[in-house]
Amino acid sequence: MKKETLAIHHGYDKESFGTMAVPLYQTTAYDFKTAKCAADRFALKELGPIYTRLNNPTTEILESRIAAVEKGEAAIATASGQSAIFYAIANLAEAGDNIIVAEKIYGGATTLLTHTMKRFGIKAKIFDSDEAEDLEALIDDKTKAIFFESLSNPNISIANVEKIASIAKKHDVISICDNTVATPILFNPLTKGIDVVVHSASKYITGQGLAIGGLIVEAKGLNDKLIGNKRYPQFNEPDESYHGLVYANLPLPIFTLRVRLSLIRDIGATPAPFNSWLFIQGLETLAIRMKQHSKNTLKIAKFLKSHPKVKKVNYPGLKGDPYHKKAKELFKNGYASGLLSFEVEDFKTAEHILNSTELFAIVVNIGDSKSIITHPASTTHMQVPPEKLEKYGITQGLIRLSVGLEDIEDLIEDLEKALD
Ligand SMILES: *Cc1c(COP(=O)(O)O)cnc(C)c1O
Repeated sequence: MKKETLAIHHGYDKESFGTMAVPLYQTTAYDFKTAKCAADRFALKELGPIYTRLNNPTTEILESRIAAVEKGEAAIATASGQSAIFYAIANLAEAGDNIIVAEKIYGGATTLLTHTMKRFGIKAKIFDSDEAEDLEALIDDKTKAIFFESLSNPNISIANVEKIASIAKKHDVISICDNTVATPILFNPLTKGIDVVVHSASKYITGQGLAIGGLIVEAKGLNDKLIGNKRYPQFNEPDESYHGLVYANLPLPIFTLRVRLSLIRDIGATPAPFNSWLFIQGLETLAIRMKQHSKNTLKIAKFLKSHPKVKKVNYPGLKGDPYHKKAKELFKNGYASGLLSFEVEDFKTAEHILNSTELFAIVVNIGDSKSIITHPASTTHMQVPPEKLEKYGITQGLIRLSVGLEDIEDLIEDLEKALD
């Protein structure tokens, strides 16, 4: 089945309850009925709900659906995109280890991976995911993960996914791709040899700015890369926190299983069942929304490019953009999602535009059906030192748009007035 169909049906058997909509299990705990059943579930002899911090039937439908749509083996849902990134890394690295992190990633992921993780003894080395020419030389015995974004927020660049995957494979290091902006509809990193995908479900997956959530998906066959791999003893040696369980001996997808049994168990950043239910609603319309977000954004990119007050437009869907070729190669129909940035003369001009638009709200979210306008240098990238801002092209005149699903003529008219 195609992923557009899986996003609507996978993981829920209508016959079980006779409801068309997926039921919401708004519950903390589950009745085991017998003492044996309780013991068997804790011993993993029987798989079933234990406690909503660990699993929940509504959340499990979301998990199996995202795994199918991403063409992966299994998934786990988390309380936020940030916690998904944290768990994916903490599942692999510990104090004394290092991770290799792309330079151009979401601001929150940068602070988590380069600052907070350092305080836990995990050091980040930075690489350029556009080309990945510098990646291989950074790998050593203590390297436990390579982290990057397929379509980067907010730089709107596209990574050299195939090269990153092949270097990770050669050195038996796990590669993790944040696929939030591209979404599984436009691109499936796991089919290009990436090992793990993470998402902030708070963006395009919910699609209407309704809830915070995250997802981790592991590739088919990832067990083969983890079992017997000397870099990752935690999957191959007894886990003393789980009475000597050896993950490698289980006939289950062990990457996400270990996140569940060890990290979610202990740290507990689990999604609320209601939020999982909202993400299921979002997935049902994701395919049609991504098509429309991409079409609207391309039209706005073309309008801005022809405007005399606009110095530069960054959008991979646009012919002549440095990432246009990669977008056409990697992304479904060459659709390039709903983020674009453009540059005007200076801060004053940018400020005037932000204050003058009516449909574009000044918000630091993305992926909403409602259009959004942001000034990165004074908000999302305020903590970044000036020399780095320049390197990333985040000038005082740079404006980012997350283009929504409103009528395209209304959106262009709104920008036209604001640019006046
Ligand atoms: C928003 C975002 C995150 C963080 O997700 P939250 O759900 O806000 O915690 C991570 N990566 C990318 C690319 C994002 O856009």
